[in-house]
Formats: sequence, C-alpha cells, structure tokens
Amino acid sequence: MTTAHWLFGDQLGPHFLAPAGGDGPGDGAPVVMVEARSVFRRRRFHRAKAHLVLSAMRHRAAELGERVTYVRAETYREGLRRAVGDAPVTVCHPTSHAALRLVRSLPRVRLLPARGFLVAHEDFVRWAGGRGGRRLLQDDFYRWVRREHDLLMEGGEPAGGRYNHDHDNREPPPRGAGTLDVPGPYRPREDDIDAGVRDDLDRWEREDGVRFVGRDGPRRFPATRREALSALRRFVELRLASFGPFEDAMLAGDPVMSHSLLSSSLNLGLLHPAECVERAEWAWRAGAVPVNSAEGFVRQVAGWREYVWQLYWHFGEDYRHGNALGHTRDLPEYFAELDADAVTARCLATVLAQVRDTGWTHHIPRLMVLGSHALQRGWDPAAVTDWFHRCFVDGYDWVMLPNVVGMSQYADGGRMTTKPYTSGGAYIHRMSDLCDGCAYRPAERTGPHACPYTSGYWAFLHRHRRMLSGNARMRRAVQGLDRLRDLEEVLREERRRTGTTP
Ligand SMILES: Cc1cc2nc3c(=O)[nH]c(=O)nc-3n(C[C@H](O)[C@H](O)[C@H](O)COP(=O)(O)OP(=O)(O)OC[C@H]3O[C@@H](n4cnc5c(N)ncnc54)[C@H](O)[C@@H]3O)c2cc1C
Repeated sequence: MTTAHWLFGDQLGPHFLAPAGGDGPGDGAPVVMVEARSVFRRRRFHRAKAHLVLSAMRHRAAELGERVTYVRAETYREGLRRAVGDAPVTVCHPTSHAALRLVRSLPRVRLLPARGFLVAHEDFVRWAGGRGGRRLLQDDFYRWVRREHDLLMEGGEPAGGRYNHDHDNREPPPRGAGTLDVPGPYRPREDDIDAGVRDDLDRWEREDGVRFVGRDGPRRFPATRREALSALRRFVELRLASFGPFEDAMLAGDPVMSHSLLSSSLNLGLLHPAECVERAEWAWRAGAVPVNSAEGFVRQVAGWREYVWQLYWHFGEDYRHGNALGHTRDLPEYFAELDADAVTARCLATVLAQVRDTGWTHHIPRLMVLGSHALQRGWDPAAVTDWFHRCFVDGYDWVMLPNVVGMSQYADGGRMTTKPYTSGGAYIHRMSDLCDGCAYRPAERTGPHACPYTSGYWAFLHRHRRMLSGNARMRRAVQGLDRLRDLEEVLREERRRTGTTP
C-alpha cells in the first residue's frame, strides 16, 4: 500500500503532492491533514488570519475528496495518531523550527525536502560557503538567484542593463491623487466553507476560550489554488505595470496601491514562486510591462522572499532571542489591541486601522510606520515579532523572524541588514499623503505639534549613539545629533511621552 502523505496547512498547492521519485509523496498517495486547535489557543491571532488558514485547509480537503483523511484534533500529534495510527507517513520539510522538531520526534514519519521555494537549501549553503566569510548580503544573493535561475536575463546580462531598478522604483505617490489610477486587486467570494469556518470561530470564542484580535469581515485573500491563480493573473495583467514606480509609496485612501497581495497565497503554498516570477517576466517580454516593474516584483519574490526563507534556517533557533539594542518595553495596549481610534498620529492610526480591518498592509507601512515606531519607543523585539506574526494574514515564523527581529528591529545587531531602518517624519511625509491634516508636523521635534517619528528618531539615535557611530551607514545621521541645539528639550519631551499614545 502507498505510504500516506501528511500536508501541513501551508502546503496546499499541487506541487506539494507531485511525486518526485524517492523525494516525493507516492503517486496518488492518500493524504492526511490535521486541524490542530491548540495552535489557536496558544496565540491570539487576527480573526481574518484564522479564517483564511482554516478556509484554505478545508477547501483543499474538499478538493482532495476521498483521498484525504481530515482530522480536527487538539494537537498535531493526536490528529496524526487518529488518522494513521502506527502506519508510516511522509511529509515535506515544514516551515518552522517547532514543526521540524515535532516531525523529527515522531516515529515513522519520513521527512522529504522542502518545496515551495526556488532555491534548495544545499544550493544556498554552497552560495554562502563560497563567500569566504563575507556578509550574506541580500543584493548579492538576489543577483546570484537571477543568474542561477536565468530570471530576467538576456544573453547572460540582466534585462534592461542592470540588476537593480530601485532608482526608478522609489517614486512618491502622484501629487494630489487620493488613489493610484489602477484597477483594483482580485477579491474572492465567500462560500459555504467560509460560513462554516465563521460559525466555528464564533463557537470557539463563545465556548472554548479561544481569543482573536482584529475585525472579521469578508475574506479578502485567496483560499484555493483557483482563486490564487485568478489573483496572480489579474495582478500581472492589470497592476504589475505600475508596481515598480510606486512600490514604496503610501496613500491613506489606497492601502493596496499596485501591490500584488500574493503573500498569503505564496505562504499558504497555493502558488509557487517560480510561476509568479515567470509570469512577470513573460509580461515584460511581451512588452506589456516596463522592465523596472517586472524587476521590482522579481526582486521581492526571488530576492527577498527566498533570502528570508534561507536566513531563517541559517541563523537557527536562537535568532528569535536577539535583542542587541536591549529593548524591553511591553507593547502598549492601543498597539496590542489594534485600537487605531485611540491614536492621533495620522500615519500610525491609518496603518493600524488597515491591520485591524484586513490583517494586511504593504511593506513600507510595516517597516517605516509600525516597525519604526516600535524601534524608536524601545519595545521588546520578541513581543513585536509575536505581534506581527499574529496580526498579519501572511505571518509565519520563518518569514517573521528575519523581517522583524533582523530587518525591522535590528535586534540581531546587524546580521541581516547593514543599518537600522527608522526615520523621522520627513520620510513619511515625502513618501505619502499621511501627514496631510495630521495634528503633528513632520518638521517639528518639540512642542505640542512635534511629530512622534521625528522626535522619536532623534531620541533613538541619541540612545544608541555609541553603537551607531561605529556603523558607516549611520555615522552621518548620528553626527546630525551634534547640530541639534534643542536636543535636551527633544529628549526631555520624549521621556515624558514614553508610554503615551502618539
Ligand atoms: C516588519 C515586516 C514584517 C513582514 N512580515 C511579513 C510576513 O509575515 N509575511 C510575508 O509574507 N511578508 C512579510 N513582510 C514582507 C512584505 O511586507 C510582505 O510580503 C508584503 O507586504 C506582502 O504584500 P504583497 O503580497 O502585496 O507584496 P508585494 O509588494 O506585491 O511583493 C510581492 C511578494 O514578494 C514577497 N516579499 C517581498 N518582500 C518580502 C520579505 N521581506 N519577506 C518575505 N517575502 C517578501 C511576498 O511574497 C510578496 O507577496 C514583512 C515585512 C516587514 C518589513
């Protein structure tokens, strides 16, 4: 009899069941899926995220029909026992250290290589090993992936003459526009499976002590392969062309802009990154999108996403405990509860409301509004990481750790990025319309209208002055402190503001 194959809830696309000789599930193998309630009891997830994951798992089970044994259990261990007893199973390499530990602890579970990424772990190890101890820079990794996978290349050279089109991809939003003039993203329609999920979540909250954060609402992200393919098609055909230039821009009235909204589909395994970047490349080859937009998207998927995945394993389990800046403050209630209405700073209130209502916001609000504020206020990086993990529809341990511990909170002391990512209000003002009508003014650092990002930025630089002045990329910023005649006043007011809602 063919050995059964166990699918985790983020292994939902057809590529997780494609047979590949000894390294894949057997052809037509029976499938086991376990819906473990303890996952939802352990962490207070955004309700939209809990809904999406359960909806996607149950849709996949419905597609697989009699081939799947779908067990609702308290834990994975119990569910697997109920599904297969003592029989052997195969499983593809899971996406977290905890899940890998679990799989390794179970007798008769055979671990297969990871799927759902472009770069195999051994290839990354070979790349990293060939660097002679030099830093594992994202840009170097990305160029290597482009060459190795012949992505957006022409005769061995990068399409458009260079690997990096960032220069064309950092436009502020069009002046005076409340929204980008592009067709909206794909939106799915809910069905009976979604209704069943919603009933279960209500019941768990009512009777079972499970708690969520954020607002429930119509499901906004794909739960099936068919929906995910429609979302990909719509993005490439109608929205990719304007992705590049406005990648970093923010508009209060247009949270999505030209972003793809594909992260949850990729992370659930509904889409394979190869098909996403290939379609972007085809669109460019067909003359439908400019090279900077195609390159910007390929960089995100084949550069950043792959890099983050590999770093998660490369840095190991202890990475999550990094706290190089010694930040220990608890998250304030308004942040933990996504209470956007309590916040005065328009940028933070707007972005927090996006997270509360949808469980998603694009990468610049994550980095330069939410993460930057946490960094400036000195919040515990582990608590910040946990918050991102729970509150975002696309949040998983592997993608959170490098993005939050490393990129956003600099808690790894610079193992991932060459400098901390934070700025004063001037950056937010330049890249968005979020300062329009705000009670604070980005250019002011003291007094009643002082922008919390501007004063927070100087206070952050001052607090870590010694460490940051040893960093070539931060030296000029730190030297700027000496030119501030009102630094003492900024610091005094910041101390008073600590713990208040901005
Ligand atoms: C503090 C912080 C936390 C983040 N947390 C997550 C997370 O939990 N899950 C997640 O998938 N992404 C995360 N990201 C990366 C990025 O913000 C999201 O992938 C992106 O905003 C999702 O929206 P999109 O699909 O429209 O992306 P697009 O802007 O359209 O980009 C295309 C794709 O590129 C990939 N991508 C781009 N950047 C990254 C990155 N840094 N890491 C991983 N994938 C990337 C995503 O799969 C994304 O769908 C985080 C970034 C920051 C700064």
